[in-house]
Amino acid sequence: MDRSVAPGDDFFRWANGSWMKATEIPADRSSWGSSGEMGERTAKRTAELIAEAAKSNAPAGSEARKIGDTYSTFLDEAAIEAKGMAPLKPALEEIAAIADSRGLARALGATLRADVDVLNATDLYTPHVLGLWVAQDLDDPSRYAPFLLQGGLGLPDRDYYLDPSPRMAELRARYREHVAAVLKLAGIADAEAKAGRIVEFESLIATAHSSREDSSDVVKGNNHWARADFAARAPGLDWDAYFEAAGLGKQQQFVVWQPGAATGIAALVRDQPLATWKEYLAFRTVESAGSFLPKAFVEEQFAFYGKALSGTPKQSDRWKRAVEVTDAALGEAVGKLYVAKFFPPSEKARAEAMVKNEIAAFAKRIDRLDWMSPETKAKAKAKLAVLKVGVGYPDRWRDYSGLEVVAGDALGNARRASLFEYRRNLAKLGQPVDRGEWVMNPQLVNAVNLPVMNAMNFPAAILAPPDFDPNRPEVMDYGASGATIGHEISHSFDDQGALFDDEGRLRNWWTKEDFAHFEASAAKLVKQFDAYRPFPDIAVNGKLTVSENIADVAGLAVAYDAYRLSLGGREAPVVNGLTGDQQFFLSFAQSWRTKMREAALRQRIVTDGHAPAEYRADCVRNLDAWYAAFDVKPGRKLYLAPGERVKIW
Ligand SMILES: [Zn+2]
Repeated sequence: MDRSVAPGDDFFRWANGSWMKATEIPADRSSWGSSGEMGERTAKRTAELIAEAAKSNAPAGSEARKIGDTYSTFLDEAAIEAKGMAPLKPALEEIAAIADSRGLARALGATLRADVDVLNATDLYTPHVLGLWVAQDLDDPSRYAPFLLQGGLGLPDRDYYLDPSPRMAELRARYREHVAAVLKLAGIADAEAKAGRIVEFESLIATAHSSREDSSDVVKGNNHWARADFAARAPGLDWDAYFEAAGLGKQQQFVVWQPGAATGIAALVRDQPLATWKEYLAFRTVESAGSFLPKAFVEEQFAFYGKALSGTPKQSDRWKRAVEVTDAALGEAVGKLYVAKFFPPSEKARAEAMVKNEIAAFAKRIDRLDWMSPETKAKAKAKLAVLKVGVGYPDRWRDYSGLEVVAGDALGNARRASLFEYRRNLAKLGQPVDRGEWVMNPQLVNAVNLPVMNAMNFPAAILAPPDFDPNRPEVMDYGASGATIGHEISHSFDDQGALFDDEGRLRNWWTKEDFAHFEASAAKLVKQFDAYRPFPDIAVNGKLTVSENIADVAGLAVAYDAYRLSLGGREAPVVNGLTGDQQFFLSFAQSWRTKMREAALRQRIVTDGHAPAEYRADCVRNLDAWYAAFDVKPGRKLYLAPGERVKIW
């Protein structure tokens, strides 16, 4: 803490000031904070479990053997070095052999992977021209639908190609050098000229892309296309060949999230020379294999994506990347080992009790709302009643028996894992919707609301110290983990959640007046966040971050009530001179303690739906209880007049 700062002027610094002064961001990180600490500890624990599995001499085909082989193969840099470019050769030869637009359509179809997610983990990025998300159909909750999302860019977002600012122009120039360097390393002739054409070509794709804001608009995205619509609405690409190669030949209905991008990409197939497409595909193929290739590729990738784009000076250790690779391939198999060792039933029970209090507090808040009609209230209560909250890990683990892992074939393992994941998703089409499926691994420090399934996941790794710690006053856990739980619950009832009814159907269940009130409150929050300026030339985007900011405010309010509820009317004991309420808010702000490198922070402001951590901590200024706890009076920098405080739930 920094007690020389008035909590009402800068709550984040009051809570974290000496930590901010004493903390250096580790060289291999673009940011550091309590989630980084938790992530680091989890990675070490996971690596130990994986190493044990590797040493266990488990029988071929067992999960332990697959885990061990995936990890050790990635760690064996000497073997990867010795193979050089050889593992890439077949893929590059296939691209070289593309002879016509039908062949191109097949090649593009074969790249489709289940690597995006619109509403759960919200990952809108895929390096392929399109990405697939298989999820509950937004019009018909009884079945899964294949959602197609835009992709194909090497830079994080279309803004990086289209924004005329000098900073973005400089990044584009640096990107072009990176493309040329990768081509040279791969032994591809004429690298400089090709790099220029490839970046130019990606700019054309970017021009067809929807903006981030439009892409997060569910109503704009929910476009059902029948198979025949593709030829009519996105002419130029042989869609039959594309879907056949993607294993979707029999699928008749799709959801095209960004129709303009589908149309634009198909038009590029028609209008751009085949040779340009082949250059682009060859580059994308090498680039996406980069982490599994010899050191020179790995270093070039880090120089651009780590240093230039995120400002991270040093790459993370190979073992940490090996853990990530193993998590990506066999996440729940690793998770099973993780929870057996590090998430005892007592902590699961404690977290479940907290969830129960939060849901009860939320129900009471709904009852108390004076602006909401009885009609909307009843629907909100119905939705709350069927919420499926997963704590720690899924009830049923994923089956990896169909995944083949080959010792000594790092790139092949990664490719087989992503194909396995793709086929697992394709297999869901036509099956009943499984509300018990998890979208995060138990060993991930994160939490998520699954709005369409009306469910949420709280992985074991986030229910851990410092946010969730049996050795400190429980009120502090409510301020940290409790606020996270409240945050995720409130997503079911915010501007996104309002769009989905209790079954997950896209049907706004609010009355017009209630929704208008909600949107007016949201607009106040947009203004509040638009005013935050981390740098003189860039402000937080209140509109881009509004859903998350609403969830933060609501989550904090719910966690506050839940902590009060947990004490059954008693006051929490004073600790170190701090009242229960003070401990609660302090813990909330400390759970957001984060330092971020400038480049990473700038990237986050452009692309992330979450505001920077410091401003998330400042959302305390919307709660009356915070003013009372710290005696915050008019004139203080964070002071908001009662009418300006945003109270949504
Ligand atoms: Zn959220």
